[in-house]
Amino acid sequence: MPALCRDCLSMLENARRCPNCGSPRVKTHAELFDLTIAHMDCDAFYASVEKRDNPELADKPVIIGGGRRGVVSTACYVARIRGVRSAMPMFKALALCPDAVVIRPRMSVYAEVSKQIRAMMDELTPVVEPLSLDEAFMDLSGTERLHGAPPAVMLAGLVKRIKDELGLTGSIGLSHNKFLAKVASDLDKPRGFSVIGAAETVAFLHDKPVRLIWGIGPAGQESLEKAGIRTFADLLRWEQEALTARFGSMGYRLWHLARGQDKRRVSAHDPIKSISNETTFFEDTANTDVLDGHLWRMAEKVSGRAKARGLAGRVVTLKLKQSNHKILTRRVSLRDATQMADTIYRQARALFDQLGDRGPYRLLGCGLSDLCSEAEADKSGDLLDPGAAQRSVAERATDDIRKRFGSDAIVKGRALR
Ligand SMILES: [Mg+2]
Repeated sequence: MPALCRDCLSMLENARRCPNCGSPRVKTHAELFDLTIAHMDCDAFYASVEKRDNPELADKPVIIGGGRRGVVSTACYVARIRGVRSAMPMFKALALCPDAVVIRPRMSVYAEVSKQIRAMMDELTPVVEPLSLDEAFMDLSGTERLHGAPPAVMLAGLVKRIKDELGLTGSIGLSHNKFLAKVASDLDKPRGFSVIGAAETVAFLHDKPVRLIWGIGPAGQESLEKAGIRTFADLLRWEQEALTARFGSMGYRLWHLARGQDKRRVSAHDPIKSISNETTFFEDTANTDVLDGHLWRMAEKVSGRAKARGLAGRVVTLKLKQSNHKILTRRVSLRDATQMADTIYRQARALFDQLGDRGPYRLLGCGLSDLCSEAEADKSGDLLDPGAAQRSVAERATDDIRKRFGSDAIVKGRALR
């Protein structure tokens, strides 16, 4: 069985303790030297930076957060043992841990450290996708030749280097896709090195709760639980069509995740978080027809950019600036991700109608966020709106004509206003 010493980086066979350096920190796994998709996550990052920079804090419970009325942004492991968690209100954290040292976040310092870590990751592979200051996906496919060592060795080397040079610790998850790599990095924190191989994927997931899926919050958990879905085994009992009918595009994704399948690629470029468009008017206006025309035009622009990138979004946002510069924003979450101008426009218009304020306005904006691949989007329109499918077909036909004859070939009546 392939094995790796995480201290001296020796590649071994079936060792419990490293024969070269004597370390017990040996990782053994059948697929250890074949897997290439990794997730690296620093351990209690902000708190660890503070402890590094002030050794007096080493054994004390440290909470990074915004003062007494704020929330916990990071708790060190000493504070976590006492029950303190990220996002917990500060008063609650201090009730659990009255002797905690509370430190206001020094974001510029953390950003600087993050850059140093990023530089180290860039030496391993050009395909690094950061998720936040302290975590990133890496795709090390095809790098073995360059480095003369498989990804597992390079990744163990990376966290060793982060420890030696920056005085911080991190955990690695190594697997065959992003979903599982992210799950793995969280299995054995701090200083973890966890592997989920292809052969064990389905068995590994079987009894795990579906809340392991990144992006499923309390609301998502509740709606899954209402459908009797708590574990991956529960999910496996559902047909793909049934899941999609009940949960929309998320159902499609859940069906694949239940089988440990995740086709998303590690993307080296900053992922786009949202697509939006806004207009500042020459003169403030309260004319609903004029505003409606702008709204349609912006929905078309947003939709066009989404289609060009092969993206769809689950949240539509409306933004208005009043004459006194006060900004109003409203958002709606859709059951199915969309990239259709018609849907974006209708949702934004409904938000506008619900405002109960008729301006005048100096700026109007509309956006699409919570983006995903267009493969997960609604192709047939809203099942509850029988006209939507037809409008969707018409919009795609319009897109085809524009592709062939230019973007001015068809201008909908609304945009001419
Ligand atoms: Mg972290």
